[in-house]
Amino acid sequence: MAAKLRVAVHKFSSCDGCQLAFLNLGETLLELAGLVEFAHFAEAGPVEPDVAVDVAFVEGSISTPEEAERIRRVRANARFLITIGACATAGGIQALRNLHTAQEWVAGVYASPEYVSALEHVTPIAAQVRVDLELWGCPVSGHQVLAALRALLSGVVPPEEEDKVCLECKRRQTVCVMVTRGVPCMGPVTRTGCGALCPAFGRDCYACYGPAENPNAPSLARRLEGLGLTPGAVAARFHFINNQAPVFLDAGLAARTGEDD
Ligand code: SF4
Ligand code: SF4
Repeated sequence: MAAKLRVAVHKFSSCDGCQLAFLNLGETLLELAGLVEFAHFAEAGPVEPDVAVDVAFVEGSISTPEEAERIRRVRANARFLITIGACATAGGIQALRNLHTAQEWVAGVYASPEYVSALEHVTPIAAQVRVDLELWGCPVSGHQVLAALRALLSGVVPPEEEDKVCLECKRRQTVCVMVTRGVPCMGPVTRTGCGALCPAFGRDCYACYGPAENPNAPSLARRLEGLGLTPGAVAARFHFINNQAPVFLDAGLAARTGEDD
């Protein structure tokens, strides 16, 4: 019998929600356990953070000196490194502090800021070490992590979803909330993978899966303003969960410039 794929699931600055994608697999997780060995997965049981593995899943972004040092050990111990979720892939909510001064935030929030050890900027994993595959979403779904593992078990590189959410709306024949109701929607610049979940329930996409392939962010920013959003509100749309994705970061900064005019 072939040796099982050794897998580790590591946590950095994050809410733990993406790790739940594994636990939410339910019975499928038990089947998976027959094919892979979870060598480190603190939320589920085994704790061996410095173990060498075939695949390391990484949740969370880098926001402390300790994390900046630890991610290098994770990289050195893994043949294939996969980021899971918005924090690991594009900074997450905590990276919004990059838009201001870290010391001011810490001083404003904590009574004794001298006990807080934080980097000036929060960074996605790819800004620190080489990443082999990025899974986007807030949180990622069990379907995504399973598809990645199945591909690796078959000896192929997992495919990436890069289409826009709009395309998925068309495939599902979901009525467009922006065209029919004038609701500001981020679907035209956001990658699919969620099955256009939010529009299917009659609400706008807020871009939790990050930028799609070839997004025209400036054009969407103008459209959002045309629908009544202020420049500040447009900036907030781009500077949200995936704020460190370059195309979203630039579009948000451009909108904020408009706010200053
Ligand atoms: S609802 Fe949003 S994602 Fe769907 S087609 Fe309209 S703009 Fe695109
Ligand atoms: S529709 Fe947009 S906000 Fe909703 S789950 Fe999909 S990518 Fe995320």
